[in-house]
Amino acid sequence: MPDTASPCVSCGACCAAFRVDFHPVELEGGAFAWETGVPAAMTVPVTASLVRMAGTDAPEPRCLALEGEIGVAVACGIYGARPSPCREFDTVHDACARARKRHGLPPL
Ligand code: SF4
Ligand code: SF4
Repeated sequence: MPDTASPCVSCGACCAAFRVDFHPVELEGGAFAWETGVPAAMTVPVTASLVRMAGTDAPEPRCLALEGEIGVAVACGIYGARPSPCREFDTVHDACARARKRHGLPPL
C-alpha cells in the first residue's frame, strides 16, 4: 500500500488479498529494517530466509497490521516500517485491480 495521498487510504484491498513475504533482515533489529523494522510478532516464519505478514495466508487473507475497513478507510499500522513488498506494490500494477476486484471494488 503506497503513501497516504493516494486512493489507497480508502482501499486496502491488496493488504487483504496476497501473501506478503520478505527476508528476515527487514524485521526489527535486522540489517535492512525500515525505521524500527517490522515487528516480529506480526509475522510468521516460513523458511530460514523468509517471513510472512501474519494473516496474509489465511483463507480470507488480511494482514494483521491493516487497520480500518476495506473500501472505506484504512491505514497500515506499521506504515513507516512496512516491508519491501508493500513499498513496491503500486496502483499501476495489474495486481492492484485484481485485489480491488476481490473486494468488489472497481479498477482505478
Ligand atoms: S489495491 Fe491498489 S488502490 Fe488498493 S490499497 Fe492496494 S495499491 Fe492501493
Ligand atoms: S504491512 Fe501494512 S502495507 Fe503491508 S500488507 Fe500489511 S497493512 Fe498492508
